[in-house]
Amino acid sequence: MSVVRVPLIAGNWKLNKTSTEAYKLVAEMLPGLRSIKGIEKLLCPPFTALMAVSRLIKDTDIHLGAQNMYWEEKGAYTGEISPVMLAEYCQYVIIGHSERRVYFGETDQQINQKVRAAIANQLKPILCVGETLEENEAGRAAGVVSRQIREALQGVDIMDADRIVIAYEPVWAIGTGHTATPSAAHTLIQNVIRPTLGSLFDQRIAQNVRVLYGGSVDAGNAGKFFQQSEIDGALVGGASLNAHAFIAIVEAAQA
Ligand code: PEP
Repeated sequence: MSVVRVPLIAGNWKLNKTSTEAYKLVAEMLPGLRSIKGIEKLLCPPFTALMAVSRLIKDTDIHLGAQNMYWEEKGAYTGEISPVMLAEYCQYVIIGHSERRVYFGETDQQINQKVRAAIANQLKPILCVGETLEENEAGRAAGVVSRQIREALQGVDIMDADRIVIAYEPVWAIGTGHTATPSAAHTLIQNVIRPTLGSLFDQRIAQNVRVLYGGSVDAGNAGKFFQQSEIDGALVGGASLNAHAFIAIVEAAQA
């Protein structure tokens, strides 16, 4: 089956940048990003910078995403942000990032509620999955990743499934400077992620869903990941805070 999956490069800014700083960073990135075609470009600043960034990218082909959300649409949930609120600004939302799982105790069941709420509100979820170092060394990566996908996507309608993006992010590679090898990431996507999607949905969905790699991607190593046919782009943390590095990563996807 031959499919065309448009590469997606997403910048996850994490807990960085005030809205003033965000404005400056995006202004610096804009000329370079705008000139790159054929790649979907996505910025995920903190909640407080969404409005400022959305104004700047309004007439461009750059998309906006949030880094998290709650599953309820409104109500007495002090401090939370709902999918309805995000849908005013964003096309995407990152869900189940390992930092949320580890530092904030997010469970697969909560992640499932978030994925379904995002879809119900026309947001595209970027579902993050990945094994810890311990799980990797114990040979459990495939089982962990498959379980995370199954639990997160329970109850998702097949009609909505190709709105989902999966980010394969080995936990031990995030922010450490150590990446998975491009061929190991390719193999895990081919042998675990797409077959899991195939069994949950069907072969068409398994082939259409975009799967990103994340974990210490930078301007120097990005090209090697994008040469792998199963890797449809990257979720970039640290390097997305530097305009030149982020543009270079998007250029590598184009090449
Ligand atoms: C991430 O935040 O999803 C990530 C992959 O971070 P980094 O690129 O810094 O490893």
